[in-house]
Amino acid sequence: MSTNLDNFSKAAQSGDTYVLAPLPYADNALEPVISAHTLGFHYGKHHKAYVDNLNKLVAGTAFAGQSLEQIITATAEQADKAGIFNNAAQIWNHMFYWYSLSPKGGGEPPAVLKQKIEEAFGSVETFKQEFANAAITQFGSGWAWLAQEGPKLTIIKTSNADSPLTRGIRPLLTIDVWEHAYYLDFQNRRPDYVNTVIDKLINWEFAAANLG
Ligand code: MN
Repeated sequence: MSTNLDNFSKAAQSGDTYVLAPLPYADNALEPVISAHTLGFHYGKHHKAYVDNLNKLVAGTAFAGQSLEQIITATAEQADKAGIFNNAAQIWNHMFYWYSLSPKGGGEPPAVLKQKIEEAFGSVETFKQEFANAAITQFGSGWAWLAQEGPKLTIIKTSNADSPLTRGIRPLLTIDVWEHAYYLDFQNRRPDYVNTVIDKLINWEFAAANLG
């Protein structure tokens, strides 16, 4: 998949139909941190349901065939379009999350990203702690993001389906903190899920490729 964010969601579309984009690895590739059982439900049931719902909601509307990014920015904060926004944004967020993880993740960021992290947060270790804290303290369902606002890196958290795209902020990495992302493997221990994902699975190469 291209890491150009402008083209990021092309794999989610076939003509006017939204499709379940392939996972970038096998469903057991993230074990033992994230089990095939979790990935099977998360990708095969939750992510797929957002795709099926969006197809139903946009059929016969002006949104049919638009890119996910176009739909997300056009429907944000419009109460009568909340269903379309939530499903389109959740498809995008999940695709971005699958790529934010890698069986070869963790370790040290590439030099170009490491330098920007050190400029913004002081050190990679401090960044990891602040990123984990954002993910752990997001109340209820949502997402924690490493993002780029202008030249500077920042950490944000969003609720439910909300996305940095609606704020004009460039996402680099995300962690899904909806309970369905971790409950089968970690039960209520969100901090263990978050810290283990950051240590073992986080895809620094993807984040570096997303720098603007
Ligand atoms: Mn999820």
